[in-house]
Amino acid sequence: MTAILEIRNVTKLYGNELALDGLSVGLQANEYISLLGPSGSGKSTLLRIIAGFEKPDAGDIFLEGKSVAGVPAHKRGIGFVSQSFALFPHMSVFDNVAFGLRHREEEPVRDEGEITRRVNDMLDLVGLVDLGDRRISQISGGQKQRVALARTLVADPKIILLDEPLGALDANLRSRMRAELRRIRQQLGITFMHVTGNEQEALAMGDRVAVLDSGRLIQVADPDTVYNRPASARVARFLDCYNMFEGRCEDGERFIAGDTSFPCLANQNAQAGPGFYCVRFDKIRVAPASEAPQPGEVGVRATFITSEYSGPSVMYFFEGQGNKVLEVEYHLSHRQPEEFSLGGEYALLWSPGDALVYA
Ligand code: ADP
Repeated sequence: MTAILEIRNVTKLYGNELALDGLSVGLQANEYISLLGPSGSGKSTLLRIIAGFEKPDAGDIFLEGKSVAGVPAHKRGIGFVSQSFALFPHMSVFDNVAFGLRHREEEPVRDEGEITRRVNDMLDLVGLVDLGDRRISQISGGQKQRVALARTLVADPKIILLDEPLGALDANLRSRMRAELRRIRQQLGITFMHVTGNEQEALAMGDRVAVLDSGRLIQVADPDTVYNRPASARVARFLDCYNMFEGRCEDGERFIAGDTSFPCLANQNAQAGPGFYCVRFDKIRVAPASEAPQPGEVGVRATFITSEYSGPSVMYFFEGQGNKVLEVEYHLSHRQPEEFSLGGEYALLWSPGDALVYA
């Protein structure tokens, strides 16, 4: 596959601060890529450089095979939807979307018939065709998000960059907009790059997920691979769905964490030395402390602290050795919720093959 956009060895320094560190990645035509990273990892810097608002200190970006170095932002054919939406509050929804067509530097559209047609097509696509006359101050946050998207899409970009587009929306609206964004992208067949600090959003949205850490990409893969086989302990930590035991692997056969020893399997390729032993929240079974583990199961003892119900799942929080908080997730489509007694001791058990071991 040829990349529509290729980022090659891009480095960006702010003073002594390395915001991007020789970053390379290709975006395919017609794909939804999520860019996941903690605050300060360089996500916004990368978007600004791709969009052309800032220059890299080294490296280059190729759009359909041509370098965009020296091409100003408005001539790149790359749309940018910012976190704040940046709409004109006193203008109507229609005029906000039409603004770029009417006032752009190159070939502004003068034909009002064409403007009306193109703006209404986009309002239709984002589900706002009946609200064209409303002022921005008279619509909801979710509707503003749609206007911002329509205003970017009306210019016919090849790529859309979305900077934490759902961050300003409440939880309910966020999950609806996730589905909407995917539908809109599929309908248009263009490439979306969606920046988020939320691991669930990144996994839910992306055909691929790129994980950024201190200006470097530490994994780029489909969501299933990132979730089930994080490339490193750092990725596993960002995903926030693994219990991570810090310790050391001995002879590649046993992992020692505090007083506990877990067996390592041959296919876990555990390297001897310090590392992390990781078990996903939903791979753990909780049993009474008195119950003997099933053959092949391993685990730890822990005290029940509290639980948190979220509709499709319940999270149970336990305290293990060294005050370590351990989390267990029950997906309610698979398991019945349970009542554990506060302060009671339990065995958290899993199959050794479900663990991941990182040097
Ligand atoms: P993210 O979007 O992932 O939160 P940013 O791209 O905003 O990360 O920032 C990456 C790093 O670069 C951070 O350490 C940040 O402090 C620094 N940085 C970003 N923009 C600037 C700037 N304009 N001036 C100085 N430092 C900056």
